[in-house]
Amino acid sequence: MRLRNIPGAKEAVMESAFVVQRPQEKKGGWAQVYPQTGPIHIEVGMGKGQFLMELARRNPQVNYLGIEMYDSVLLRALQRMAEIDELPNLLFMREDARLLPEIFRKGEVEKIYLNFSDPWPKARHAKRRLTSREFLNRYERILVPEGVVEFKTDNRGLFEFSLEEIREAGWRLLACTYDLHNDAKMCEGNVMTEYEEKFSSLGNPIYKLVTAR
Ligand code: SAM
Repeated sequence: MRLRNIPGAKEAVMESAFVVQRPQEKKGGWAQVYPQTGPIHIEVGMGKGQFLMELARRNPQVNYLGIEMYDSVLLRALQRMAEIDELPNLLFMREDARLLPEIFRKGEVEKIYLNFSDPWPKARHAKRRLTSREFLNRYERILVPEGVVEFKTDNRGLFEFSLEEIREAGWRLLACTYDLHNDAKMCEGNVMTEYEEKFSSLGNPIYKLVTAR
C-alpha cells in the first residue's frame, strides 16, 4: 500500500502518542514500553491497522505493535485510533522491517503477523518479500524460542514462494490452508484485514500458513 504523500503526515507521526519514536533505543526494554506487562505480538506491514485494532480489543492481555514504513499509511491508522476507544495495548512504529533485529533483542517478540504483504513479483526483488529467507532470519533473531509467524495472502505465487523459503530456512510448517475462509479449524477467531475483505469479496481464496523455527 503506497498512499499519495499526505502533507503533514511525517510531523503527525512524529508527534503521535500512539507511535514509538526512536524504537532502537527500546531494544532490550520493550517490557517497560506498555502500561501493562504482556507478550508482544507485531504485525509487519500493517497498513491502516484494522486487524491490530480488533486483536487489541479482543485480547487486552497481549501488547501489540504495528509496523509500517510509510508515514501517509500510518497516519490513516492514527486517525482511526483517535476515533475509537483507547487501546492501551496497541502502539505503532514507522520503520522498515529490515531493522527489526536493531529494534528488538532475541526473545522480546512472541508472534509476528504478516498480512497481504507486497508480492515484489520481480525475481531480483525476492529479498524484499517479507517471507524471504532473509526476513525469516531477521524474525528468528527477535522471536522467543517457540515464537510463530502467521502469514495470510491471496497471492498464490507469493504463498508458494513462502512455503519454499520456510523449507529452505529450516523452519517448521505448523499449519497451512489454501482456503482459509472454508477451513473451519484455521478460520476460528480469524480477524479480517482491509486487504482480506477486499480480495475475498472478489471471490479470491485466502491462503494462510503458520510457521516456527
Ligand atoms: N496488512 C494490511 C492488510 O492486510 O490490509 C496491509 C497490506 S499492504 C499490501 C502491505 C503494507 O506493508 C504496506 O502498507 C507497506 O507499506 C507495508 N510494508 C511493506 N514492506 C514493509 C517493510 N519492509 N517494513 C514495514 N512495512 C512494510
